[in-house]
Amino acid sequence: MGNFTFSVPALGTQYNDYRQQILGDSFNWSWVRPLTEIRYLTIHHSAGPDNQTPDDIATYHVNSRGWGGIGYHFVITKNGDTYYVGDLTTARAHVLNLNHLALGICLIGSFVAGVEPTFSQIISTHELCAQLLFRTPEIPGISAWEDVVGHQNLSPTQCPGNTWQNWRTKVVSLSTTQPSNDRLQQIIQLYQIILGRDPDQSGLNYYAQSQWTIEEIRKIICESQEHKELINRAKNFKSAQTLASEALIAFNQTRDKIESITRLGQ
Ligand SMILES: [Zn+2]
Repeated sequence: MGNFTFSVPALGTQYNDYRQQILGDSFNWSWVRPLTEIRYLTIHHSAGPDNQTPDDIATYHVNSRGWGGIGYHFVITKNGDTYYVGDLTTARAHVLNLNHLALGICLIGSFVAGVEPTFSQIISTHELCAQLLFRTPEIPGISAWEDVVGHQNLSPTQCPGNTWQNWRTKVVSLSTTQPSNDRLQQIIQLYQIILGRDPDQSGLNYYAQSQWTIEEIRKIICESQEHKELINRAKNFKSAQTLASEALIAFNQTRDKIESITRLGQ
């Protein structure tokens, strides 16, 4: 039986060892192989709904496909929560004919038609890969970012979606060095100008440590749900203002009419 204890300290409570809880066999299936055989860190997308859980995937693999357990080693949900689901010493089932050489990381979502993973997913993927590549000496065969490949780079498949090349760069180049004070100030200013508030600490950290330029961050904040809601509120306020001024004009006209009728009657 394989039982390799593994964790990602950089992810804190976002990292969950979920091998015991998840449906199916996480410790023997599909077969146990030496960690020294591993050559690829393979990235997948779930190609399903955004709210899919690791349990949903395991249920599908076990009950519908008849497998002994979930096909992946890790699953990363939209909010960046990272689940260790298949023991690293087991081969699992995620790349045809190459399972003995690969580790499988599945990101929830469908990354086609311009859609990319969430920033939280990018960050968690980066931290998970960095831990496996640089801080897990038991797996010496993967030791550089070149060892991180998309499923499509090993097999004829769309997985992990046709935006993979764009966000692969983001996963790889995410900086973990301390951001400059200038950069922090610029991000705080963007929040104040676009969202009318100071950034929360986690938002500030995410953007500050990313490799995105200030201009890219400006675009991302402008496209956020929060900003869209602000714009909608402003529009609603505008139309309420228009209605109110139209009502005032109508009121004044009616009052003028009544006054002139009253004057005529005198
Ligand atoms: Zn795949």
